[in-house]
Order: sequence, then structure tokens, then C-alpha cells
Amino acid sequence: MRSLNDMGEFGFIDRLARIIPSSPTVVEGIGDDCAVLRVGERLVLVSTDMFIEDVHFRREGVSPRDIGWKAASACLSDIAAMGGAPLYCLTSLACPGDETAVFLEEIYRGMLSAMSRYGAVIVGGDTTRSPRGIIIDVIAVGEAIGGHFLRRRGAKVGDVLVVTGSLGCSAAGLHALTHGNSCGELVQAHMYPSPRILEGQWLCTRESVHAMIDISDGLCQDAGHLAKAVRLGVDLYPERLPVTPALAQYCAEHGLDPVQLMLSGGEDYELLFAADAKNVDKAMEAFHHEFRLPTTVIGTVTDEWTGVRTNGQIPPREGFDHFKPQTPENS
Ligand SMILES: [Mg+2]
Repeated sequence: MRSLNDMGEFGFIDRLARIIPSSPTVVEGIGDDCAVLRVGERLVLVSTDMFIEDVHFRREGVSPRDIGWKAASACLSDIAAMGGAPLYCLTSLACPGDETAVFLEEIYRGMLSAMSRYGAVIVGGDTTRSPRGIIIDVIAVGEAIGGHFLRRRGAKVGDVLVVTGSLGCSAAGLHALTHGNSCGELVQAHMYPSPRILEGQWLCTRESVHAMIDISDGLCQDAGHLAKAVRLGVDLYPERLPVTPALAQYCAEHGLDPVQLMLSGGEDYELLFAADAKNVDKAMEAFHHEFRLPTTVIGTVTDEWTGVRTNGQIPPREGFDHFKPQTPENS
């Protein structure tokens, strides 16, 4: 019998999706960034994200407020990925019980600051004991404005793939934290991501944008979700990936490959979308005018294969999977 380590996180999700029944009011069920549910005239978006000590975060080098900010932002980013507006959150916390009330309250303050920044309020949750470490679960509830939202499914042959902002900084920030190196800008990118809520809403209103996802598990992995959702292929161009000066400098100082971090490092929480190649330049000019955030065309959608390739080659590692064993090449 296959274990989760054999089939991986996404194989397990596919297996679950086959046994979980749907309902007529479920517009999108398992398999996208959020579930989309019809409630009266409105389309409600719901997503959940777990954040576990020593899996998703370590206490060393970060403040409890940072931990709370990141837990909330990761979940809100899934609302951004569908172009929605956050409304409410439920937050659950499990801990061994020896933390101070002030420490835990600071985690909540971090979550509250992210939520108030992006328009959501906490309306409930649960607290319980864990045998070891802190576990935070955030459920975000949002709305598809005017009933419009973007799915992962929708990329067309010939579309270009575009990414907002920069990639790889979060992975480099994690490297800095775990190796005791100082690089404030990268650690900031790792612990203090900005879910692209308004940007997602804007992209959702463009006819030229066909599909969207947020980059949580790494570019290759998440581009693969866009491709596999329509049984198409994606060709990524590593030489076009946007390298920030801080990432380039850190990688040069510590013998790391910035391209590898940009391709497979997770938790950047930028948006990745497929758009009509003919209209993308005009749309991106308007995007930049609106948000002062760079966008970069980093690939194309093809029917020559299924899944992700980089310059036509199969990449050594797609991205982060919680259950697939980490080898020296992909750790
Ligand atoms: Mg996501």
C-alpha cells in the first residue's frame, strides 16, 4: 500500500478529491486556491492554511508578530489568487501550554495586522493543546466581486506566463535564518510577505488574463498546477526570471544558485497568471501604472507536452511537496 511519502502531497489530494462528493452550490471544489460557493446571489471564496512550528516556521530569529503576519498572509494570498476580496477569518491555535499569554497574543496581533491591512476581520476560531510546537490554522472567507474570479484552469496554447514582483527572496531569507546569516531584506521577504489582493482583483477584471495562481510552493510547482489543470505544458525561461540585487548578492556570497531558488523556492506569494500574448504588453503597462509593481513574462503555454519544462528540458525539481522525501538535490 502506498504511503504519503510515495504519492506526495498532490497525489494524496487527487485521491481525496475522488471520494469527496460535491453539491449543486459548489462552483469550484477541491483543486483550486479557494473553494467557490454560491450563497444566494453571491459567490463566496473559502480557503484554509495550516502553519506548523518547525515545518513552516521556526521561532529563532523572528518575532511572534511576524509568525502571525505570515500565517494570515499565506491564507489571504489564496483569496488573491482568485481575484477575491477578503472578508472574514477564523483562526485556530494549538500549543503545548507553556508559552506566555503575551507571546501568543503577539501572534494574534500579527494576524490581526495582516487582516486589517487586507480588509478581513477575525470572527472566531479554536484553541487547544498540542503535544509539541505551535500549530496555527487560518480559514479565510472572501467574495468574488461582481461574481468574477479566476481559476487555475483556463490557460490557452500560446498564452504567456507572467509573474508579479520578484521570486526566490523568501527561500533565500529562510536560508539566511537557518544558517544565522544576516540579510534583513531577504528575511523580511520570508517572514513578511504581501498577499497581492488588489493586484489579483485588478487582473481578474482583464479579459486577456485567463488563469491565475499564487506562488506558495515554488514557481515550477505552481506553474505545473496551471499547466496540468488544462493538460497543457508550460515552458519557463530561467534567464528571464527577475533577480533582485539583494538575492543576487546573497547567492554570490553563499554559493547559491539564484535561478534554482527562483524556480523552486516557495512562499513568495506573488501571482502567476496566463495571459493572451497579443494583449499582455498593454495590460502590464496599465498594471504597472496602477501598482508600481514589476511584472515579468517568464514562459509560454504549449501543447507539445504536459507539465513544466525549463527551456524545453524537464527541471530537476519542481518545487515543495510536504510528503515527498527531500534529497540532497531538492532540499
Ligand atoms: Mg495557493
